[in-house]
Amino acid sequence: MRYISTRGTAPALDFENVTLTGLAADGGLYVPESWPRFTPEAIRALAGLSYVDTAVEVMAPFVGDALGRDELRALCAEAYGRFDHEAVTPLVQLDGRNWLLELFHGPTLAFKDVALQLLGLLFERFLSQRDTHLTVVGATSGDTGSAAIDALAGRAKVDIFMLHPLGRVSDVQRRQMTTVLAPNVHNIAIEGSFDDAQALVKAMFADRDFAGRFRLSAVNSINWARLMAQIVYYFYAAVRLGTPDRPVAFSVPTGNFGDVFAGYAAARMGLPVAKLIVATNVNDILHRALAEGDYSVGTVTPTAAPSMDIQVSSNFERLLFDLHGRDGAALAQTMAGFEATKRLAIPAAMRDEAARLFTSARIDADGMALAMRHAAERSGQVIDPHTAIGLAAAHGADLDPQVPIVTLATAHPAKFRDAVERATGQRPNLPARVGGLFEREERYATLPATLEAIEAHIAERATAAVPA
Ligand SMILES: *Cc1c(COP(=O)(O)O)cnc(C)c1O
Repeated sequence: MRYISTRGTAPALDFENVTLTGLAADGGLYVPESWPRFTPEAIRALAGLSYVDTAVEVMAPFVGDALGRDELRALCAEAYGRFDHEAVTPLVQLDGRNWLLELFHGPTLAFKDVALQLLGLLFERFLSQRDTHLTVVGATSGDTGSAAIDALAGRAKVDIFMLHPLGRVSDVQRRQMTTVLAPNVHNIAIEGSFDDAQALVKAMFADRDFAGRFRLSAVNSINWARLMAQIVYYFYAAVRLGTPDRPVAFSVPTGNFGDVFAGYAAARMGLPVAKLIVATNVNDILHRALAEGDYSVGTVTPTAAPSMDIQVSSNFERLLFDLHGRDGAALAQTMAGFEATKRLAIPAAMRDEAARLFTSARIDADGMALAMRHAAERSGQVIDPHTAIGLAAAHGADLDPQVPIVTLATAHPAKFRDAVERATGQRPNLPARVGGLFEREERYATLPATLEAIEAHIAERATAAVPA
């Protein structure tokens, strides 16, 4: 399988290189050159397979000959062996029609572990054959940072520098990052906001000299391998609910459009997906885009579901690429207009095309709290604020009542226990696998939010320095 850029001019890459690369050189995102197809018989044959075996079947066409099948299976077994549920992503029935797909059984309690645990192993595997180190840099408002650090801690040939805004992540989130003391993990608290941290990371990548010298790489959801790993659980859940003989709908708490794009990919591969519900909080750029064609940047409102507090959804470009008939030059022009004006009007024909598979909803703070109470009182399930937004959107969706709706449960409720307690009166306990978080030693540097300070800090510590 080869991967092409959504903006048409960057060189096509194989799976190994697309895994180790972030943004394409033309500013676009990498997508598969074509979508592999699963026939109904091939989907039926997934029934009864373990999560790991399902993952091998679903991912093999994307991996191509970059890894042998046995090798791919071994990596999946190692990555998903760290989850605390044998089903890896178990389904829980809420009522006659609604299901939760629990994606939070990994080491850091959020769905990002599903992709990042595998990505950490892929990095190590592909770097082992090369004479180079990588320096992963990232900015986090919480979940991505802890999942990426857990996945890369102690791995050979890679250092990770993770920037978080000082004092603006929860205690649980900070400790999940700063108590990892592996020598290749470097936490930096920035004296500034999350936006400052993200702007610093972008500035580092734009500093070509610095980026080249330290071989900077990214693990955010623009990385294709992350999305690929997320396609698996759509197949796994749908097959358990009777696909291919029965279509299934999914409601997805959405921020950067990565998770729901994986659902789109599953549908393009032949999985009978009745609908993908894009659930947003009051930061509703995606809801406005899908419902009214208005993809324009507003200001971010902080909410109790912080992993969905975004202005621009990077992965939306991947959908726009298909909606532009995979014409990279046309999309490059569209995106240049968007970058200049911060707004994009999606033509009615493209909106109609998207509406065949997508619908959307905007859930405010009351709707979110109500969904948390509802799940606790009627189904005995304590859910986190992100999941609650997905579930509220599922309840409001106008779909054939025969179609089961699977809401993706993206975080463990204990990760956001203050918000859960406010809504339900119940304070969820941290699971044993993260026990002792508050007794462990923390290590992080505090730096001013200047490029100079961050680059000097990294230059002193990164192993990847290429001699000048
Ligand atoms: C990252 C995250 C999301 C949003 O996922 P996207 O792929 O960015 O759309 C939703 N919920 C939780 C808990 C997350 O960590």
